[in-house]
Amino acid sequence: GPKATGETCHIIIDHEGEFPYWEGQSWGVIPPGNREKDGKPHSVRLYSIASSRYGDDMTGKTGSLCVRRATYWCDELKADDPAKKGVCSNFLCDSTPGTEVVMTGPAGKVMLMPEEDPTTDYIMVATGTGIAPYRGFVRRLFVEDTPAASAYKGEAWLFLGVANSDALLYDDEFQEAKSKYPDNFRIDYALSREQENKSGGKMYIQDK
Ligand SMILES: Cc1cc2nc3c(=O)[nH]c(=O)nc-3n(C[C@H](O)[C@H](O)[C@H](O)COP(=O)(O)OP(=O)(O)OC[C@H]3O[C@@H](n4cnc5c(N)ncnc54)[C@H](O)[C@@H]3O)c2cc1C
Repeated sequence: GPKATGETCHIIIDHEGEFPYWEGQSWGVIPPGNREKDGKPHSVRLYSIASSRYGDDMTGKTGSLCVRRATYWCDELKADDPAKKGVCSNFLCDSTPGTEVVMTGPAGKVMLMPEEDPTTDYIMVATGTGIAPYRGFVRRLFVEDTPAASAYKGEAWLFLGVANSDALLYDDEFQEAKSKYPDNFRIDYALSREQENKSGGKMYIQDK
């Protein structure tokens, strides 16, 4: 929404089925070009994958990223300083259909879903783009028509912290999942600039 703090982009990568991953893993992205300081190629940046293993289109050939554009506010200029903007997040947020993206991975085992037991409860806590892996989880548990989704009988509780309601991410999808599975899916938002905690301060995720 218009009052969101910063710009966050949902980016769908077409990996043509050659880059399979599991929910909770990350991809690396190597932005094009060279570093100013030494002329060497830019280094890899990690991004949590925001879709399930099937991708948003259920083909198994795409994966999504949730990327916040890194800007640099300059107090002297009283404006963003374009010379200091984040290299990779701006490359991704400026990408258009057909942009080639050099990637590494997938990587990461610590955030894989504990699917052996379909009664496992989940407590998911995120701020901002930290929601990315949990969007993949929610799609896997409550959105997709798969054996894994039908088998799930646990309770999943999502906590998301952002500045205000305009900065919420994927809220429409989460509300739809909640309306379909009111007994299994619970959502709590901490809106630091709109809500107050018990002691009258800003409502952060740890105050929920
Ligand atoms: C496991 C993991 C998962 C992640 N998942 C996500 C995700 O899902 N979504 C997401 O958005 N990010 C994610 N990140 C963060 C991501 O990897 C990048 O760090 C982020 O996008 C910034 O990279 P960048 O290339 O845009 O910025 P960089 O170019 O690396 O710059 C970093 C910061 O320094 C500032 N800067 C640049 N030059 C100067 C200067 N001269 N003086 C002062 N400041 C300067 C930039 O404005 C920027 O804020 C994840 C990181 C990890 C480790």
